[in-house]
Amino acid sequence: MPLVTVIEDDRAISESLRATLTERGHTVRVASTAAAGLALVTESAGDVIVLDLGLPDLDGRDVIKMLRAITPAPIIVATARESEDEIVKALDAGADEYIVKPFSARQLDARIRAVLRRASPADEGARLIVVGGLEIEPLGRQARVDGRRLVLTRMEFDLLQYLAVRVGRVVSRRELLTAVWHQPYGGGDGTVDVHLSWLRRKLGETAANPRYLRVVRGVGAQLVNPTD
Ligand code: CA
Repeated sequence: MPLVTVIEDDRAISESLRATLTERGHTVRVASTAAAGLALVTESAGDVIVLDLGLPDLDGRDVIKMLRAITPAPIIVATARESEDEIVKALDAGADEYIVKPFSARQLDARIRAVLRRASPADEGARLIVVGGLEIEPLGRQARVDGRRLVLTRMEFDLLQYLAVRVGRVVSRRELLTAVWHQPYGGGDGTVDVHLSWLRRKLGETAANPRYLRVVRGVGAQLVNPTD
């Protein structure tokens, strides 16, 4: 359930990407200017950014540098022509991957999956996720804290796993709604808060004495390693 941010001024392209990437299991949000894209990514970084290099308001390389300053999320640049110079400059500026237009959603999906594998090998994969005394088995959908098995609902497990693979990062409620609940256009912020408090209770923590789960009121939540 990766959250993909598409920054592309050609609406026909962005809407077709939104439809086809959504079909392939991604959650997609679209911005048509660099400024709007930077605002989205500032609000919540998401997992991968697809950036058109020819935007009306800012130079592509400058946008890459600005994105790099606020997020480590992988950036795939989409370029209008196979210009070695342009591609090298984009990669030097901090892009992770490139794709030349016109491209199919299938090609882009393959690039997205490749950069996500590189960025976070444990993410949603088969590997055990370990954060201090907390262990999460993505395949078996089991979690333990200090060896004690946690009995979690499906949403609680997804929420815990999403935060655990992003350990140390404050994840906004909006991002959680988008990526865990698949409600990119918001809805009940209360939903997130309620699940966070249930999860906290199951982890054996309280708001006054958090260990792994820190809830930042009005902002979101962060999973931390208490042994760090
Ligand atoms: Ca363009």
